[in-house]
Parts: sequence; C-alpha cells; structure tokens
Amino acid sequence: MVLADTGLHQTQGEEIPEIRWVHGDDLCDCTFQRLGEWTNPYLAKTMRVRMCCMWAELEKMFPHLVQHIPAFYNENTDLFETEFIEWNSPDSEMPRALWHRQLSVAMGLPLDEIRNRTNGKESPGPVPRIVEPAREVPKRELAMENSQNDIILTLLGRKDMELEMERQRNSALIQVIVGLKNGSVKLDDIDIGEAPKESSNGVSEKAESSGN
Ligand SMILES: [Zn+2]
Repeated sequence: MVLADTGLHQTQGEEIPEIRWVHGDDLCDCTFQRLGEWTNPYLAKTMRVRMCCMWAELEKMFPHLVQHIPAFYNENTDLFETEFIEWNSPDSEMPRALWHRQLSVAMGLPLDEIRNRTNGKESPGPVPRIVEPAREVPKRELAMENSQNDIILTLLGRKDMELEMERQRNSALIQVIVGLKNGSVKLDDIDIGEAPKESSNGVSEKAESSGN
C-alpha cells in the first residue's frame, strides 16, 4: 500500500509521534483501515499497529489467502450487492475517509487524485429523516375503530372525545394528502366508506347524477 502522508514513518520508541493514528484518519490507501493499539500505564509504553498496512504487506507473501470481492455482502439476504448506496445516515456526516473511498470506486480514480479534488470540500452531511408515508390510512383511520372509540370514551369526557376524533380525522386527512402528493397513496385506493354526515344535506352521495 502506498502511504499517503507523514505520520507513517517508523517510530523507534524514542519519540511520541505528533500525528495520532485513529480509525478513519485516511493516512493510508487501504480500503479498510484497521488499527490496533496496546497501552499500559505500568510500563508507560504504547504500541500502535496499522493492521491494514501490515496485512497489505503479508498479502504480497500470501496472495492466495486474501479475497478482494467487488461487492457488498449483505448478511440479511446472504447475497452480494454490486451497487454501492449513497450516504443515508440521519445522524452524522459521511466519514471523510469513507467518502474518499466511495468517490474512488465511483470515479475509478486513485485516492490521491480524489483527495486533491475534495480538498476544502465538505463530505455529504446527515440525511434528513424521511417521514413515514401514510400506511393504509383511508379505511382504517378515517373511520376510527369502535374499540378504540370505547377506550377513548371512558378515558375522556364526551367533549374531549369529539375533539380527539376531530384531531384524528384531521391527522388522517393530512396523511392522505401527503400520500397523494408523494405518490404512496392513489386516489383509487381511498375508500371513504360511509358518507360523512355533514355532506348528506339533501344531496345523495350515491352517484345517481352521473348520467354520462
Ligand atoms: Zn493501511
């Protein structure tokens, strides 16, 4: 492996290195960076080993003992996935070393070239959480289930229950609208069930009028 930067010279046990090796420091070009550290206060000694770079040297001697597979192994499906995915963590930005390696894979360029190109740029930031799309809103939630009504009725006074039902109806309607906008709900899927009482003022909900 080509070592990318200072900090990777040998220390003879006489000096405390200025640059601390940490996971993801991007100081070497290994695809998977791995560091080992052993330290002991009674000895006042520390040993750090760049396992990844060590393995790269060992691989030169024992190439038949290392597999490089151009795919992600998905444990859940027991399948290899050859397409990489975009950064999708809602909690943190993409680790820089990982970003560089993904760009290197995507663009087919060496890491040094990628580092030059990304110099001064930010790695992909946290991805906003996606609000769960409405799930089967129309039938189940527009008309609240009776058992649920009973429970609420005993917990709340009648007035509060009406408010609660109103709130739930509004919330369900908003979910439907969101679903319609983002395409997770189709107009044909919506079953409004019994016609709302408010709208039955003389006009029949049954579509008798649709002559054409
Ligand atoms: Zn390495």
